[in-house]
Amino acid sequence: VEFINVDKSYDGRNLVVDNLNLSIAQGEFLTMLGPSGSGKTTSLMMLAGFEAPSGGHIRIAGRSLESVPPHRRNIGMVFQNYALFPHMTVAENLEYPLRVRKMPKAERTERVRRVLDVVQMAALGERKPAQLSGGQQQRIALARAIVFEPDVVLMDEPLGALDKNLREHLQLEIKHLHERLGITVVYVTHDQSEALTMSDRVAVFNAGKIEQLAPPAELYERPATSFVSGFIGENN
Ligand code: ATP
Repeated sequence: VEFINVDKSYDGRNLVVDNLNLSIAQGEFLTMLGPSGSGKTTSLMMLAGFEAPSGGHIRIAGRSLESVPPHRRNIGMVFQNYALFPHMTVAENLEYPLRVRKMPKAERTERVRRVLDVVQMAALGERKPAQLSGGQQQRIALARAIVFEPDVVLMDEPLGALDKNLREHLQLEIKHLHERLGITVVYVTHDQSEALTMSDRVAVFNAGKIEQLAPPAELYERPATSFVSGFIGENN
């Protein structure tokens, strides 16, 4: 995944993403960390294809994003309130992205079974989302984002709505999934402990720019700017 000189303005004047350059390696867990309004979500939305850059280019797997039609982009997504389809069962929710991709029925059933195992929800496939807890729903949202074996999974505060214990538990699960499946993850959070536990590298955003891009330990040991040392020190 590559951002090359990417700008974004919603009003034609103010840049909320300002000349972003970022190269994310295949299989990397990259977290965009920063305060509210610093441009993290906007960067992710551009990667998802929901927002167009005002300038610059985004490339995924060597191809420019604009050249690939949305249904061909192999990108999974999990958001804080990424609603599951309420009228479908859990298993049907998971099958949906496979149906869209025209996978044969037998293969779909097998994939759904496997991914339910992966997120430890094998017993709950026939439930409707409303019959699940928040944490379980978020596990299913996660399963739905990985069931079609995407090149990249985008996560925007996926654990934001959950209580602290569950959040920490799911942080570890996401981390294990990432290690096991080798998927590239781009993760957005304003929670530094989440960023530091999970990531290979963290991009610290401030006012539309990356202040520092480094592995977690380096952010602590060698913060590049006073903004970074302030932000990382702040809510320890
Ligand atoms: P948060 O953690 O609060 O989501 P963020 O770092 O993800 O913050 P963005 O959501 O990317 O920040 O927002 C960056 C700036 O762009 C903010 O000033 C925001 O008000 C503005 N913005 C975001 N989306 C839109 C939109 N659809 N139209 C106009 N302005 C927007």
